[in-house]
Amino acid sequence: MSISTNYIKIREQIPSDVTIVLSVKTRTVEQIEEAIGAGATDIGHNYVQEAGRMYNALNNKAAKVKWHMIGHLQTNKINKALRIFDVVQTVDSLEKAAAIDKRAERAGKEIIPVYIEINIGSEFSKAGIKPDEHEPFDEYMEKLAKDISALSHLRLAGLMTMGPRFGNPEDVRSYFRRTRRIFERIKGLDLPNVNMKYLSMGMTNSYRIAIEEGSNMIRIGSAIFGKRECDVEENGGTAIF
Ligand SMILES: *Cc1c(COP(=O)(O)O)cnc(C)c1O
Repeated sequence: MSISTNYIKIREQIPSDVTIVLSVKTRTVEQIEEAIGAGATDIGHNYVQEAGRMYNALNNKAAKVKWHMIGHLQTNKINKALRIFDVVQTVDSLEKAAAIDKRAERAGKEIIPVYIEINIGSEFSKAGIKPDEHEPFDEYMEKLAKDISALSHLRLAGLMTMGPRFGNPEDVRSYFRRTRRIFERIKGLDLPNVNMKYLSMGMTNSYRIAIEEGSNMIRIGSAIFGKRECDVEENGGTAIF
């Protein structure tokens, strides 16, 4: 099936308040153009350099969509990232948040929406904050949200997680549920300068379960573009061939 057919079909199948972020790593400009033509509104990229090239190649189409950084963001790439991305979904420490805040101010950006990335399975190979390393985790996350809320050029707007990948996607449900609980908990704090709007979880093999567990933003690639030849499974950038 074609990219546009795939996109339109999934768009119709899921609730209208769930945002689809197209995960476009390894895809071509032509493929992205087709998806935008079918109505895609949000693009997620893992790599600053490639995203920049894609942004330029898309010309006037690039500004029509929202750009989400969904890969591990190195501090030395923040300046460049801020020229491309509207949202950074991968804040994984207060230090990273402060570094983005500082550079946003220098770049003359009013506010950058950011999400905190949780590595909810505490997986060694993945980026994001690992619960195992910060117990009690609910308290840790509350404190982090409060600290980020004090940064004037950022607005904490959500949580992002990948979740462990299982043969049976049903097995990831409890991880999504735990992420949702943390999301609600931070939302309930009603912190100034925090607007917990987005729970970004669910990929091709798990988005249905993620939506059942409260996700309102799914990041999908393969379901729309087809299987990747080189499977870049981890958002830290480890390629699995
Ligand atoms: C690749 C990737 C996705 C999408 O994966 P698919 O299985 O192709 O849907 C989502 N989120 C992140 C962070 C990714 O790196």
